[in-house]
Parts: sequence; structure tokens; C-alpha cells
Amino acid sequence: MKRMDTLGKLRVLGAAARHDASCAAGALKSRSGQGKSPAFPGIYISWTDDGRRVPLLKVLYTNRCAYDCAYCANRASADVPRVSFTPRELADLAAALHRRGSIAGLFLSSAVHRGPDHTMREMIEALRLLRQEKGFTDYVHVKALPGADPALVREAALLADRVSVNIELPSPESLRFLAPQKDRRSLLGPMRELAAGIAEYRMEIREDRGRGPRRHPFAPAGQSTQLIVGASPDSDLCILRLTEGLYRRYGLRRVYYSAYVRVNDDPRLPPLTAPPLLRERRLYQADWLLRRYGFRADELLDEGSPFLDEELDPKAAWALRNLHLFPVEVNAAERHVLLRVPGIGARTAERILEARRCHSLGFEDLAGVGVDMKRARHFVTCRGRCLHSREPSPEELRRDLRTAFADSEESEGAQLSLWGNTRWPARDADAASCLTGEM
Ligand code: SF4
Repeated sequence: MKRMDTLGKLRVLGAAARHDASCAAGALKSRSGQGKSPAFPGIYISWTDDGRRVPLLKVLYTNRCAYDCAYCANRASADVPRVSFTPRELADLAAALHRRGSIAGLFLSSAVHRGPDHTMREMIEALRLLRQEKGFTDYVHVKALPGADPALVREAALLADRVSVNIELPSPESLRFLAPQKDRRSLLGPMRELAAGIAEYRMEIREDRGRGPRRHPFAPAGQSTQLIVGASPDSDLCILRLTEGLYRRYGLRRVYYSAYVRVNDDPRLPPLTAPPLLRERRLYQADWLLRRYGFRADELLDEGSPFLDEELDPKAAWALRNLHLFPVEVNAAERHVLLRVPGIGARTAERILEARRCHSLGFEDLAGVGVDMKRARHFVTCRGRCLHSREPSPEELRRDLRTAFADSEESEGAQLSLWGNTRWPARDADAASCLTGEM
């Protein structure tokens, strides 16, 4: 059989990375949810928070896989051409693309060839060559494979800025059903190892305060994971409870959600005709509320209604279910209370607190400090006054919020279509703010 050259491998493994919703980053999706081909194989464009364009080499190390996850284009039973880089090929390729300015970072994932340890060793060798021999100092995000030896996970973290282990399916039952070679233990083990290493690294930096020799960075951009949305019957509540636990227990920097794209004909998979992008979007909004606004998963959803409202953002939906907590007096409410008002985001809450120090606020001041009055007007009072003459019914409120929300979603649409893994996972800043905006 004719050996494939590096460019040929890049074509296969760059395209394979696009579809890999588990071991690799999620697919780059156009607004319609269809995959979008990069201009050069394997190079995808991301953006930093401040709008800089960042080309990344996003590629699998190999698409030869010993596992057979039902939803994956690279699963063992799929009839696709199989190729692998060698460590040197991958390092040479990334260094050459970097030298000529085609990429500013590497996103390296892989299928599981001959077991997780074998593949991890090869990926680590590729990164070692890239970092130490080629002098590559830009951003590297590498996947840790499920079930990999903890020592290898640590080695990878010493060479990468960010490491991630993709959990993919939110419940143990779905894992057993759709990805029988993986289980919670093999996924959480590497995650736990990374969490411990990152905590040690941060503590040493704090204690050292620049006095001792500089410690080698250990995944300085933290760890993340990805969950597939819609490949299994798991509810949003199940997904958000898991997300909450991951942030709390393992200090994850981000959980990414990837709307399931049907690439295999498998009777175990749901017959979706289009990826559930709206659901993915609501989960990102809810995730933002968990991380930044002090909400808990069980406040946003419950067993009786375990899916997020498709028509409203999760904060507005929560407010409608908790009308007894409103209206809130803008001139007296504490920050965490203001943050729960639809139409008041984190920046706006800060501006309100700041302005309140000088004078009490009237309705005429609220738009000026950034309050979205279309959403907030029924939920606040100013100097004890309401904006409406009679209390609106819950149905009227819902209708109003839906209209206000539809307007803002339309204007955010272009950005949101590029949500998720196509964003540059910045070291310290958080790309999410660009997309969710203030809620
Ligand atoms: S481990 Fe599963 S998800 Fe990852 S490449 Fe193999 S079949 Fe696909």
C-alpha cells in the first residue's frame, strides 16, 4: 500500500478532528449546523476575547481507534481511511506552519490506537519535539485520553497550556450504551490527576512568589471537557448537575457543549435531522449562570421540568418561576440579588452599585448604566415605584420577555453561531462573555 505523505495525513486527520465530538474538539459549525471546511486542511480560525483572529492547527494524532463509540465518525467499525502521524511528522508540520505564520497554536486530539497509553506516549513525544527541539512556545491544547496512566497525563500537562478529557456522555447509563469501552472511572481519573497537578502548581506559585527557581508550568490554562448534547436521552438537568460537580470538584476552567451531529447510522442513536443548536445555546447560557451568577443547577431546573425553556434564556425562565422574589429595589438590592434580575448582567450590576454611591437611581438612569429595560422593567422598582400601573399576568410577562429575548438573540446570532470550541480557549480571560453577553 502506498504510504501517505504528511499533507495527505493532514487532510484526513484535520477533517477527522472537525467531526470528533469526543476525543477532539467539537466540529466547527456554520450557523446551519453544517460542518464548514477550513481553507487549509486542519487550520481553523478562532478569536480571542479582544477580537484577534487566531489560526489553530486542529488535528487528530491518529484516527485509528480501538474503541467503537456509536456517535463517532472514527469508531473502529467505521469504513474510513486510517492514518497516523509519527511524533516527528506532527512536530515538523506544526513547526513549519508556525514558522510561516499560518498557525498560532495547536489543538491536538486523538483516537485511541493500541490503547490510551500507547497513543498518549506518541502525542507526548510529538509535543516534546515541538516544544524542546522546535522551540514552539505558543498555545497548545492537548487531549488526555480516557483511562491513560496518570503519569502520562501529568507529562502531557507539563507540555501543554490546556489539557482536556472529554466526558462526552452525561450519564453512566449513556456511556455504557453508546461508548461501552469507556466508563466514568476512566474519564474522571485523568481529570482528577489534572486537578491535583494544577492545584499543586498554583499553590507553589502562590507560596514561592517569584523567590525560588521558576517552576515548570503545569497546564497553566487549566483543564476543560466537552459534553455531547442530544446523542443520548439525558436531560439538561442531568447535564447541568454534572457540569456543576465538575466545576466544584475538579476546578474545570470550562465545560463545552457540542450539539450532536449524526455521522453514523446506528439504531442506538436518536433520529435527529439537525444538530440541536438551540439546546446547546441554552446550556451555554445556563453554564454562564452557574459560573458567574451564583445559580445552582437545581434552581434552574428540577425533576418535574428537566429541560431548559427553548423560548427564553434560563435567567428569564427562572425569574418567571420565582415571581414572589420580585420586584427588586434597584437602590437597595445587594449585588447577588441584582444579578438575578433579567436584563441586569455582571457589568451592569457593578455600574448600578457604583452609581448608587453618588445618588439614588430613577428609571431614567437605568438604560444609561446598561440595564436592558425591555427585560428588566417588570422586575425592578426605583425609589419604591414600579414602571407599570397594574401588575402584569405571568402570561403577559412571558410574552414580553419572549419578544425582548428574540430581539437580542437575533442581534447576537452571528456570534453565537461560532460558539464553543471554535473560540480560542484563552488562558485567563473567558470567551463566554463575548457570546452570552449580559443576561
Ligand atoms: S474513543 Fe470513541 S470517540 Fe474517541 S475516536 Fe475512538 S470511537 Fe471516536
